[in-house]
Amino acid sequence: MVIKQMKCKKIKKLLQLYIDNTLTFGEKQIVEKHLEKCSECQTELKSLSAMVRHIKFLPEVSTPPNFTEKLMSNISQIEEKERERIIPSWQISLKNLWNAPKYRYGFAAALTAAVFCFFAFTFLFHPSVLPGQRETLVQVEVTFTISGIEAKSIAVAGDFNGWNTSANQLEDPDGDGIWTGKINLKPGRYEYMLVVDDAKWVTDPNAKVYADDGFGSKNAVLFINNNSG
Ligand SMILES: [Zn+2]
Repeated sequence: MVIKQMKCKKIKKLLQLYIDNTLTFGEKQIVEKHLEKCSECQTELKSLSAMVRHIKFLPEVSTPPNFTEKLMSNISQIEEKERERIIPSWQISLKNLWNAPKYRYGFAAALTAAVFCFFAFTFLFHPSVLPGQRETLVQVEVTFTISGIEAKSIAVAGDFNGWNTSANQLEDPDGDGIWTGKINLKPGRYEYMLVVDDAKWVTDPNAKVYADDGFGSKNAVLFINNNSG
């Protein structure tokens, strides 16, 4: 039983993350496997879910006069007298607690703290935010400069844009035959071709390195390192 209680303690710590759907696949499996067998943790999960639903649907209430004073005195009262009643409050119906005016301000404070923690936690630990930012940070702005081709339009198509013939159009606003355009690329090796007048695939005549494309033509090869400008 001691082992079970330790396990439950760990699972209960993960339940909030389980509801937020921020657990790893492995952690999620551990939690779900435990929940199948443990009614105590199932009850805990239901209480937590109800709490989250309450927070989401809680109406905004304008604060009454002396709100802060009442709030602080209520909190200290609760801390002194009601500590033991508040801690097992997961088992008490949250609605009853809310409806009791005696506890309302204390409960509002607890909810505010819970909302704050929820957002702080989501912001700090949501895994999809940070790697995305990191990816944009390492991108390097690459300037393409093409000359010596008679054209009404020139686009750059390569493995960096899925060989899309219109995604990266170059421009020659003053009509001097020098076409330029900028593309943000992560460091790496890329192959590309020029698409002239939306139809003709042309090898960049100014590239330093070429590679056979397997169809009898040559792709231009572009190497981007962290210092490329
Ligand atoms: Zn359990």
